[in-house]
Amino acid sequence: MKSGFVNIVGSPNVGKSTLMNRLVGERISIITAKAQTTRHRIMGIVNGADFQIVYSDTPGILRPGYKLQESMMRQVSGAVQDADVILYVTDTVEDGVSERNLEVVENIRAGDIPTIVIINKIDLSTPEKAEEMVAMWQEYLPKAQIVTTSALLGFNTDGLLDRVLELLPEGEPFFDRDALTDRSLRFFASEIIREKILLNYSKEVPYSVEVAIENYVEDEKIDRIRAVIYVARASQKGIIIGHKGAALKKVGTAARKELEEFLGKKVFLEIFVKIADDWRNNSAALRNFGYEN
Ligand code: GDP
Ligand code: MG
Repeated sequence: MKSGFVNIVGSPNVGKSTLMNRLVGERISIITAKAQTTRHRIMGIVNGADFQIVYSDTPGILRPGYKLQESMMRQVSGAVQDADVILYVTDTVEDGVSERNLEVVENIRAGDIPTIVIINKIDLSTPEKAEEMVAMWQEYLPKAQIVTTSALLGFNTDGLLDRVLELLPEGEPFFDRDALTDRSLRFFASEIIREKILLNYSKEVPYSVEVAIENYVEDEKIDRIRAVIYVARASQKGIIIGHKGAALKKVGTAARKELEEFLGKKVFLEIFVKIADDWRNNSAALRNFGYEN
């Protein structure tokens, strides 16, 4: 039996969440074209006859500007330390190692955790450019394997499983053999709502909100969910709600439809908007929203 933790790290927007969903075969992590879509470390579990892989998707590497981002970065650092295998994701747009991710790459280099460097978005590049990038990364991380993929198109992602399995240690499973994730339905409900907010509002607004599920009642035929969107400033409340409530209604409808698809049953979704002053810099509020430490 092989079993272990495979942690996915890298800069924002390189396709970590897309790759994780591919590898797990389910839409566990939300994905948008915006940086900092992923705020929490999220586990996705793949069970085979003789293996259990526990993937962790993480927020992108960034320079913390406020407490929320400090928490996000601690999750990245933790993910580099406690992995059995590291998947370091970069893409054909990002040009090698920058000041921002230097520390993480140095930690990988100095440590002895087996690492696969994934150069993603190969569909946007040429073979020559890809070859150059492989050579460059082989120099940064001589012990690592380098793989080129398109997580979006599913190119080279099947082969990744075999490579991961080769590097995975022998051991007993950490979770139930039928588990898919460590996260609750509440968590997925809030993430799906947050994704719709990221898709429907521009500029700072999506980064200023958090979604909390106040009530979640599961019935046989329908799930009843009461969600609150917390904004950091009073002015953002009006923006979220929109003229005659139109903006919020759009978010609510899109989120409900996706939840119904995800759960395979009807959903009754109520969303309220409340102000939580400057919650991104408030330790107690962050703890409440599930950002540990
Ligand atoms: P993350 O921030 O690293 O988790 O990146 P996401 O998985 O959220 O993806 C960021 C954006 O890149 C989204 O718009 C994805 O659709 C897109 N993307 C992800 N993988 C690929 C890929 O292989 N090729 C292309 N062209 N786009 C991709
Ligand atoms: Mg992500």
